[in-house]
Formats: sequence, C-alpha cells, structure tokens
Amino acid sequence: MPATTLRIAIIGAGPGGLVCARVLQRHGVPAEVFEQEARAAARPWHGTLALRPESGQAALRAAGLEREFRALARPEGQETRLLDRTSAALARPAAEPGAAGTAGAPALPGIGRPELRRLLLDSLAPGTVHWGRYLRTLHPRGAGRHEAEFDDGRGETFDLVVGADGAWSRVRPMLSDATPHYSGVTFVETGFEDVDARHPEIARLVGHGRVMAFSGTEGLIARRDGRDRIRVQAAFRGSEDWARAAGLDLADTAAVRAALLGRFAGWDPRLLALLRDSDSGFTHRPLLALPVPHTWPHTPGLTLLGDAAHLMTPLAASGADLALLDGCELARHLAEAHTWQSDPDQGVRAYEAALFARSAAAAASAARALEDALAPEPAHRPPRHRFIRPLHRR
Ligand SMILES: Cc1cc2nc3c(=O)[nH]c(=O)nc-3n(C[C@H](O)[C@H](O)[C@H](O)COP(=O)(O)OP(=O)(O)OC[C@H]3O[C@@H](n4cnc5c(N)ncnc54)[C@H](O)[C@@H]3O)c2cc1C
Repeated sequence: MPATTLRIAIIGAGPGGLVCARVLQRHGVPAEVFEQEARAAARPWHGTLALRPESGQAALRAAGLEREFRALARPEGQETRLLDRTSAALARPAAEPGAAGTAGAPALPGIGRPELRRLLLDSLAPGTVHWGRYLRTLHPRGAGRHEAEFDDGRGETFDLVVGADGAWSRVRPMLSDATPHYSGVTFVETGFEDVDARHPEIARLVGHGRVMAFSGTEGLIARRDGRDRIRVQAAFRGSEDWARAAGLDLADTAAVRAALLGRFAGWDPRLLALLRDSDSGFTHRPLLALPVPHTWPHTPGLTLLGDAAHLMTPLAASGADLALLDGCELARHLAEAHTWQSDPDQGVRAYEAALFARSAAAAASAARALEDALAPEPAHRPPRHRFIRPLHRR
C-alpha cells in the first residue's frame, strides 16, 4: 500500500499521543487522535512537569514548539533536600553530576499539565482530536489493518493503531498479556494553596524545589507545584485499598488526616504540618507498574507508547517526559518511512527496538528507587537508598 494512503489512529490525547500527532503532521503525515474524554478540559489536570533537555524538551523542539514552550515554562526549583523523620538532613540525591534533582544543578523548565496539553492541541490541524471516543477493542482485518470498535458503536479501520492510552490501555492486550500490578506502595496526596502568604513555614520547608523525608517504610514528599502551590504525598507500604481496609471514607478529610497523623506519629512536627495543615482533601493513589522489562512481539499495524508501554512508579522517573520522547521518536521513524516511500512497518520496528532498551532501563531504576526508599532498615544502619548518597561520601 502506498505510504500516502496510510490511515494512522492514535488512541489517547495525553502528552505522548498529542506530540506524536504533531510531529507526524509536521512531516506531512496525517494522523487522527481518539480520546475518551468529552473535551479538552473535561478532567482537571494538575501538576507541573519539569522537562529534561534530552527527552521532553527535545520532543517539543522536534514538534517545532520550543519557543512557545519557553514562553509558558518557568524554571522549576530542582533542589531536593532529603531528611529523616526528625528533619535532620540525611543526604544529597545521588544523580549524575549536573543532572536534574541534584543540589546545585541548573533548574529545568517546568510547565503545568493543562498548559502543555493546550500547547499541543493548538498546534494540531483542526479536527485532529475526536473527543468522546472510547476505544473498546480492536479486531484484526488482515495485512496489519485493524478495525477499532469505539463505545459509540462506530467502527473504523486503520493501517496503524498507536496505543497512547495510558495505564489501562485497550490496545496493549492485543500485544501483550501484561497488566499493571500494585507496587506495594501507596501515595495519599494533599496540597497547599497560596503558600508564601498563608503557610510561610511550609514554604520555607519546601523551598523552591522539593523536600523528601523517609523513615523505614514511610515517606513524606512535598514539592512546589506552580508558583504558590505545594503538592504533598504521604508514601507508605500498605494494601492497595488502604482507605477501605482502614475503614476510611476518603471524602471525610478530618478522618483521613487523623489516620495519617497516627501513621506518621513520632515524626518531627515540622514535617507533620504537611499533613496537619493542608488546604485540600486527600486523594489515594496506589502506585502501579508494568512488569520490567515490558516488551511484545512485533505485530504489524499496532504499537504502544508512554504509560501504555512502560507504566512505572514515579519516584525516580518522569513519565510525561518519557511519553513525549516516545511520541516524538515514533513519529520521526514513521515520517522517515513516509518520505522514502518505504514500509512504515520498518519504522515501527526501529522505534520499538530503541523503546524497549530505553524503557527497561528507566523502569528498572524507578522500581529500585521505590524499593530502596521505603525499605525497612534498623536505626543503626545508614540509609541504603540507591538514589541518594550518604553525606559522608560527598
Ligand atoms: C502520583 C503520580 C505522580 C506523577 N508525577 C509526575 C511528575 O511529576 N512528572 C512526570 O513527568 N510524570 C508524572 N507522573 C507520570 C505521568 O502522569 C504519566 O507518565 C504521563 O501522563 C503518561 O503520558 P501518556 O501520554 O503515556 O498517558 P496519559 O497521560 O495517561 O494519557 C492517556 C490518555 O488516553 C486516554 N484514554 C485512555 N484509555 C482510552 C481509551 N480506551 N480510548 C480513548 N482514550 C483513552 C486518557 O483519557 C488520557 O487522556 C506521575 C504519575 C503518578 C501516578
């Protein structure tokens, strides 16, 4: 089939899917995005994404959006302070010299999730995103073509379907039996608004970057999320349905707060203030991950990117960054095949070979970081977190 007649469907309008569509269109390759959400602002997107030069920033450069990104981004404080439960400084993060997250490393530009989505959406040809289209399943139709069955009952056939549909991808079961498993670690999130004016002590504790305190199987992580907001995560080992097991209704903020304060009893009151004084309610996020490595046999007409391909725990990973890089790399390979009128399947194969190596390394280090950060350890032994370096070895 001549490359120009290819019909490409990208399932999911997350960072990975949108950047893939943009880079394809920039190279003159048409692509359509199918998104389950009814419209762009249907779900509130929170959080600031600090994008690294070699991944997220490189992808936006390839998308021709570097100038626009710089105008929207602000330097993210990357200073990370690591404390123990008494608030004593424990160590500095052990990262590559000059890498993000290292004390003294150059600040990375950060962009809010809603701004990133808007930037990418505005860059696409009108009508690229089909909102309110939830992919139910795919039916092979021969020669690498698949019919996509959407929940509105409409079926459409494509030459290539890209699963950019996140943790619970409906494309992935066509390629692999893997499903996300619970990592054993749960995050309970809360937050502060207008911190500099209303919570100066918390603002001082967190600074312009991030503070992380670990003790045994518990941790508190707090980071600036936008100029005057702070997002807090209480991390601990426990059951996947922690709230229900503890008989808690997550809507009952006072009860959840009391339960968390009980769990972190004995921690320095300055750290406990992160839970005691927060402005918002609590959200429970059990951390899920795909097996490491996650690969699949090459299957003409189908592939995956971002969380659909390599969902990993977030402690030492930057999932949005990786999803942007995947989307851009896949689009580049496909565009190359398109330019040379060669088989687009070769482009997908080349993309997958690089993806498998890259994502296995990132996922393994994310899993290790989580395992080590929240490992029980006797008080007399030095911390054995692999992503930090004890102070005496600095
Ligand atoms: C607690 C937590 C904190 C995190 N913090 C950070 C952070 O600070 N920095 C960072 O870089 N990353 C962070 N991440 C990870 C980051 O959110 C993801 O890795 C990233 O969003 C993945 O992008 P994606 O494009 O692959 O998928 P997603 O962003 O998940 O997008 C998938 C899209 O597909 C749509 N979709 C799903 N199923 C279907 C379907 N069947 N049909 C149609 N549409 C569908 C969804 O509605 C969604 O819009 C965090 C994750 C967690 C859990």
